[in-house]
Amino acid sequence: MAVDCDVAIVGCGPVGALLANLLGRRGVSVRILEKQQKPFGLPRAIHFDGEAMRAFQAAGLAEEVLPSTMVGRGMLFKDNDDKVLIDWSREQQIGPMGWYESYRVHQPGLEEALLKGLTRFRHVELRRGVSVSNITQDFGSVLLELNGNDTLSARYVVGCDGAASATRKLLGIGLDDLGYNERWLVVDLILQRPRDDLGDYSIQFCDEENPATYVRGVGDRRRWEMRLKPEDPTEISDDLMWQKLKRWITPQDARLERSAVYTFRSCVSQEWQSGRCFLAGDAAHQMPPFMGQGMCAGIRDVANLSWKLDRVLKGSGDNLLATYFPEREKNVRQFIELTVRLGKLINQTAAGNAPAGNMKSIWPSLGEGLGSRDGVGGELAPQIVLPDGVRADDFAKQSFYVLSKEPMETSIPSVCGQWDKLDEFGFRAAIIRPDGYAMAGINSVDEIDAHIEAV
Ligand SMILES: Cc1cc2nc3c(=O)[nH]c(=O)nc-3n(C[C@H](O)[C@H](O)[C@H](O)COP(=O)(O)OP(=O)(O)OC[C@H]3O[C@@H](n4cnc5c(N)ncnc54)[C@H](O)[C@@H]3O)c2cc1C
Repeated sequence: MAVDCDVAIVGCGPVGALLANLLGRRGVSVRILEKQQKPFGLPRAIHFDGEAMRAFQAAGLAEEVLPSTMVGRGMLFKDNDDKVLIDWSREQQIGPMGWYESYRVHQPGLEEALLKGLTRFRHVELRRGVSVSNITQDFGSVLLELNGNDTLSARYVVGCDGAASATRKLLGIGLDDLGYNERWLVVDLILQRPRDDLGDYSIQFCDEENPATYVRGVGDRRRWEMRLKPEDPTEISDDLMWQKLKRWITPQDARLERSAVYTFRSCVSQEWQSGRCFLAGDAAHQMPPFMGQGMCAGIRDVANLSWKLDRVLKGSGDNLLATYFPEREKNVRQFIELTVRLGKLINQTAAGNAPAGNMKSIWPSLGEGLGSRDGVGGELAPQIVLPDGVRADDFAKQSFYVLSKEPMETSIPSVCGQWDKLDEFGFRAAIIRPDGYAMAGINSVDEIDAHIEAV
């Protein structure tokens, strides 16, 4: 049956827009259906990590994203006496991802770069003012009802329509609540005069009564997040907001860009796939912003799903798509669990268990799925920067390649570089997937074809 497009994406937030760019770059025909007439235009995410930057690179947009960012210094968790409980400083040099470990970002700038990226592809179309009102599917395609008066058919559908996902509800998929539900006031300010004393680190003020977060944004932007008390009103007036901020800043120092009350939640969708339909981003999982990982998790989702959709559309077996949910779910749950633990520390509800000292970024493995789980397969591999400055994923044209300790004659692209996991688990090399995760450790070139043929 003829369909209107290969993939329909519901929602054009950062996750949907990135997915469309990743698919567009692979030549997949895409329609993005977005409810809002205009981009949201105000910041939410203010941090992303080097792995996310690697995904923007895969979309061919790293250079376009960079101007909206600055390198992140890290995060300090402090108690009421200003004592540092946890120091989560980030490296200030290019790290294993081939990018810096942490970036601060102005989200509207990032989204603008992603939207502009879509204009590179004639086979990618963004339709605004369109809301999905019904989904039906058969063995070969999905039919979407739009605004109750139009239809669109696609081989596959990905719901990237955020926390209140209509796609998730229309597919009848429930959420597992992972135990965090708090009202926080989020205030974005633009400095009107220098306040160098605020510093470049984000700071978590761990306090049972008034937990709060300070985030150094890009340029003159600064953010505070403060937990609201049960007695605080639903609507927070500007007077009350400045009163809560006065410990750090006053209207003489900064002007308000916006303030909003959010309920921070942690939850995971019970399924991320129903037939030919998938969920990604906040539609599939939500977490409080204490680690700055919500959007990053959505970026990992579409980095994982995009190349699998492309391969299946080009003839690989459907079972490749069934690896998406188990691989990604295990990975995201580890971020959510750590975020919730840190949230408890910030709220001082589990101060006794505070993991004091230095904290390192985590790079959780994928769950069971494609390839071996041999200590190397399923792990996020480093991205080697070649002597001529080309990054390994680009060298391999975002396809499979081999990362080996010593030169190897291989049938697919290969790069030489060190990765401690190879020594730790006794392998000469690893096959790297298009999303930067290793597929398997190998010791001879004969093993490569067998692994690749299985995809
Ligand atoms: C205060 C705060 C701070 C945060 N800080 C960070 C951070 O520093 N780092 C980080 O990684 N994450 C952070 N996050 C999380 C991050 O903002 C989200 O994870 C991210 O925006 C999710 O992106 P998304 O594209 O999945 O969903 P959204 O950004 O919610 O986009 C969904 C899109 O779908 C559209 N849509 C909805 N319903 C329909 C429909 N029926 N039909 C068509 N379109 C529809 C919406 O209009 C919207 O454009 C933060 C969140 C908050 C609230």
